[in-house]
Amino acid sequence: MAGHEKQTLGFQAEVTQLLQLMIHSLYSNKEIFLRELISNASDAADKLRFEAMNNASLFENDSDLRIKVTFNKEARTITISDNGIGMSRDDAITHLGTIAKSGTKEFFGKLSGDQQKDAAMIGQFGVGFYSGFIVADKITVETRRAGSTEAVRWESAGAGDFSIEDIEKTSRGTDITLHLREGEEEFLSSWKLKSVIRTYSDHISLPILMQKEEWDEEKKEQVIKDEFETVNQASALWARSKSEITQEQYDEFYKHVSHDFQAPLTYTHNRVEGRSEYTQLLYIPARAPFDLWDRNKRGGIKLYVKRVFIMDDAEQLMPVYLRFVKGVIDSADLPLNVSREILQESRDIKFIREGSTKRVLGMLEELANADEQEKKDQYQTFWNEFGQVLKEGTGEDAGNKDRVAKLLRFSSTHNDSEAQTVSFADYLARAKEGQDKIYYVTAESFAAAKNSPHLEIFRKKGVEVLLLTDRVDEWMLSFLADFEGKELTSVAKGSLDLGSLEDEAEKKQHEQTQTDYVDLVGKMKTALEGKAKDVRVTFRLTDSPACLVADENELSGNLARMLKAAGQ
Ligand code: ADP
Ligand code: MG
Repeated sequence: MAGHEKQTLGFQAEVTQLLQLMIHSLYSNKEIFLRELISNASDAADKLRFEAMNNASLFENDSDLRIKVTFNKEARTITISDNGIGMSRDDAITHLGTIAKSGTKEFFGKLSGDQQKDAAMIGQFGVGFYSGFIVADKITVETRRAGSTEAVRWESAGAGDFSIEDIEKTSRGTDITLHLREGEEEFLSSWKLKSVIRTYSDHISLPILMQKEEWDEEKKEQVIKDEFETVNQASALWARSKSEITQEQYDEFYKHVSHDFQAPLTYTHNRVEGRSEYTQLLYIPARAPFDLWDRNKRGGIKLYVKRVFIMDDAEQLMPVYLRFVKGVIDSADLPLNVSREILQESRDIKFIREGSTKRVLGMLEELANADEQEKKDQYQTFWNEFGQVLKEGTGEDAGNKDRVAKLLRFSSTHNDSEAQTVSFADYLARAKEGQDKIYYVTAESFAAAKNSPHLEIFRKKGVEVLLLTDRVDEWMLSFLADFEGKELTSVAKGSLDLGSLEDEAEKKQHEQTQTDYVDLVGKMKTALEGKAKDVRVTFRLTDSPACLVADENELSGNLARMLKAAGQ
């Protein structure tokens, strides 16, 4: 227990960087510190409830979880206190001295040093505990983990290091005390704190308590009583009826579950009855997280059973290609002691996953097919951020492949723009008379695709070709043979047959040319023996003298290059 001397430890370099940037860039939004600290207290309560399901003694006879917010005018402090899971000494050192987010290094690598630009980025990164330093020049954290007798005090002025020492603490959980900077007195007021809590933290399902205030006739001033009152609604937001929830409350709840700083793009909130009964509140973020491609990253769906938090990142609740979706699913059917193993087998979970997948696709279709420009723009934003992930759905989700295919957007020779804006439907609406195929070219970059010699004949004939340059495209194409009966055809493969797109005169002329060149072709075949499988006269080029094509059933040149690069 005792035996640890007071120690001073350095912050991870990124923490110091984050602190400096945050204090300057988020100053105009400074009251968000309270939201972040209350959000952490709420997470800590969820974690305790979850661990206590298998070990009720962790409650230590105090199972009424709550958050208290108090302040002291003379000492110029605000304290946020919870009776959640608490932190061990090691927890405090790692969680309050480093940034655990994956992608942190990359994020800081991208900062430009230009405060304005960096300020806009810091919000996307998410700020959390360290946001306390926007208003405080010193933060003291006293914490004891549930079930442990060891408690520690962590203290820092936010300037590169923190101290940690053993203390006595009888109450379980964490007290965070902010020593306010000069000029931040406005927060030393019940009225102000309550209004910030109602704005940003009303959705928190735990009661947030503050001391009552009363007018004292003799002193002629408000006096603070010992009695506490609940200042938020303290009911799970997703369990309330839609009509009682404002847009702001939906947005703030999103920020809480996603640890995002920006408002979401859109959401869907439903109570589902039938084979399985559950409530879903699902959001699409406006921006891809830095760790979208990190395979070890936490998923975005929190699972509750009858309002009791069960787990973060219940990956069985959403297919992998929808891993960007954030939110909450609250089941009325699952047992409270459900484990990850049970989830894998559960029929209820299967129904929930299918139902949620359909909801998410529906939400995207609503944006994609909308008449309003605003929604169309939102879909384009979504596509630019998450389109590459959605493409995985063509292979992962056979049952919804057609719906996913309709949501896909591509670059195309129609506008020769790198922006991916063209849908299969747009393409087909512009198709030539008699065109029964959807043509595409794959390449490593947009420039390479756009300048591909394979496109010459198509440009000449005015036939549109989709330009596919994302890494996932070749993989996607192996699952997507056609769209509404129109075969997806590479312009670089096999003996391209423009068939019905050629007129009679052209056909005659081509046949004549074939015969004229039989000799030359024969000589070239001999010369290239063992190097080329075949030599053919082609009509697909208009400017270039020759090009290489892959066989009908072979890997395309682009995929072969990719596999080689990956060491296959
Ligand atoms: P995030 O909430 O996104 O994980 P934060 O910076 O807000 O990031 O918090 C960092 C970590 O510190 C949390 O993940 C948690 O482990 C720990 N922590 C912060 N506040 C508390 C608290 N009140 N009780 C227990 N742990 C906490
Ligand atoms: Mg947090």
